[in-house]
Amino acid sequence: MVRSPLTASLFDLSYPQLEARLQRDGVRPIHARALWQALYRDLDCYPRGRADFLPPLQRWLGEGEGKQLPIASVIDRIESGDGWTRKLLFSLADAQQVEAVLMGFPGRFTACLSTQAGCAMGCVFCATGQMGFVRHLRPGEIVAQAVEAQRILASEGDSLRNLVMMGMGEPFHNYEAVMEALRIISDSRGLNVTPSRITVSTVGVVPGIVRFAEERARFNLAVSLHATTDEERSALVPVNQRWPLSELLEACRYYLKVSGQRLFFGWTLIEGRNDSPDQARQIVELIRGMDAHVNLIRLNPTTGFDGVTPGQSAAEAFRQVIQDAGFPCTIRQHRGIDVAAGCGQLKAARVQGGQHAAEIL
Ligand code: SF4
Repeated sequence: MVRSPLTASLFDLSYPQLEARLQRDGVRPIHARALWQALYRDLDCYPRGRADFLPPLQRWLGEGEGKQLPIASVIDRIESGDGWTRKLLFSLADAQQVEAVLMGFPGRFTACLSTQAGCAMGCVFCATGQMGFVRHLRPGEIVAQAVEAQRILASEGDSLRNLVMMGMGEPFHNYEAVMEALRIISDSRGLNVTPSRITVSTVGVVPGIVRFAEERARFNLAVSLHATTDEERSALVPVNQRWPLSELLEACRYYLKVSGQRLFFGWTLIEGRNDSPDQARQIVELIRGMDAHVNLIRLNPTTGFDGVTPGQSAAEAFRQVIQDAGFPCTIRQHRGIDVAAGCGQLKAARVQGGQHAAEIL
């Protein structure tokens, strides 16, 4: 099974789609405003019984299919010891489980959302990749994660302002649903997350990068690189066999030219494998001339991969080479060391009986 077996929910509908659905059913589209307000400002997942809705909207909600909410329930929630990282495990209507992570930084929060149950890309160091692929998420199942993140932040007097599509799944393998979800999440009448604060991360699905560039949607793009030769990259990221480095980098250049935006490269540092200053110099050669920012992530250990996490000093030396070549380069902080913050790890921990390692997304 690939597609969700579920019927559409209210969270699947963009504002124009909701208006069209109402009109189709003989209800004036103006009622979309009240419903949208209930869903995305009041964060009300049970809008059917609301007394403040006018009778036509109440009737519409009470009849027919495709309006069921909630569609994702939080079944586990853990918090890092320092309180900065919270991980949510959702159960979907067909009992599939996906994760979202809420990460706090001084002055801001970032939510990391899942786009698929499992993942088909098979990156060897990733807990989700080790699980395999189950199915794509519907747009509403992605939106529901954002709504829950907003609910938590709103209860703390804050709001959801930064989003990364970097949880379970490869976003460009589920392209339409992800873009639809992002249109809903960034709609100024609803959750209103600014597109420039949303990042979509791909492991290198080239047709997705090209399409994303041509959307000109103002969302950011992050491309996970991890190696500078096809042989090394294919060993870590099997999708490289389908779209090798030359094609990937060509797509990246196309994205930069068409979108006019900066590109983010991700690099998971693995001790003795891709963490040497020489490797950093090779990255510089590959991305020379690009408007690019490099994010370094020290490996987050998973039970299915025997790679070793490099020390902070090796990461610093690696970063220095990239910075000296004129590229902004950031080492992502290790957060959530005790909450299995890497994608797929909470679910894997429940399945495998307790893997609690670290990664900041
Ligand atoms: S790193 Fe991302 S693309 Fe690779 S297997 Fe994990 S979830 Fe999938």
